[in-house]
Amino acid sequence: MDRSQLDGRTGEPRGLGRSAGTPADQTTVRRSNLSLVLRHVSERGQCSRSAVATETGLNKTTITSLVGELQARGLLKEVGPQHAGSVGRPSLALALDGSRIGALGLEVNVDYIAAFATDLAGRVLIDRRIGFDAMRSEPGRSLDKLVQMIGRTIADLDALGVTLAGITVAVPGLIDTSSGTVVVAPNLGWQGVSVADALLSAGIPADVPITIDNDANLAALAEYTSGVALGTPDLIYLTGEVGVGCGIISGGRLLNGADGFAGELGHVVVDPSGEPCGCGRAGCWETKVGLAALVRMATP
Ligand SMILES: [Zn+2]
Repeated sequence: MDRSQLDGRTGEPRGLGRSAGTPADQTTVRRSNLSLVLRHVSERGQCSRSAVATETGLNKTTITSLVGELQARGLLKEVGPQHAGSVGRPSLALALDGSRIGALGLEVNVDYIAAFATDLAGRVLIDRRIGFDAMRSEPGRSLDKLVQMIGRTIADLDALGVTLAGITVAVPGLIDTSSGTVVVAPNLGWQGVSVADALLSAGIPADVPITIDNDANLAALAEYTSGVALGTPDLIYLTGEVGVGCGIISGGRLLNGADGFAGELGHVVVDPSGEPCGCGRAGCWETKVGLAALVRMATP
């Protein structure tokens, strides 16, 4: 579907007045309304066209046009019939489809690389993990493995007829999210590694948005948006493997901190005369409660 079809003349501007706008304005309004309807059905679950009209404030003609486009794009589907009342013919309900749109998440950790893909409705499409000793490998080799994993997964999504909407890579380290660079990941031995650049130069499609972030931050976000902490706007998520990490959701938003390194609890010094830490300092909390420290303590 080309851009001109987005420039719908039937979409009534919502909240932007009815004066004749430029095509660019109409495209923006149309996109905004498509997004509004899609989000509404996604959050509310199955519902009728008339319920969407009532609840979004858009008129029924506009809803019919918007829903038609969302169906054509494979984002909404009809299910039913839904019996809204005892009078009249039962209508088909709208539900999120999204089977042709996928999101891909990857994790690089000390001893594995994992890939996980879902469609827009949250159905798991791919869930795979390979053992890989990132701790003892050069960053370039780890990135090669990551790129291979992404390439293979994208090919599998292609075969399923799924268009990729975004790639997110979780790394256990301090991340400059604006440039997609791992500033330092002590347990991987990475310093100043631009994961985003590596993916782009390896041929990952440039039109697919790429996000690189700290693993604990992303885990906190996942639990808040669809996991055990669903809808809990203020929470702290702790991870404890070889590294000790923490993600903070405050007021429903991921807390990044002034430098983007909020929640790095594993590297808070609790014993200045303690064991050396992978970060270059000594006596970090991670050296006391991280998996490696616990194994050391438990074995003679
Ligand atoms: Zn440390």
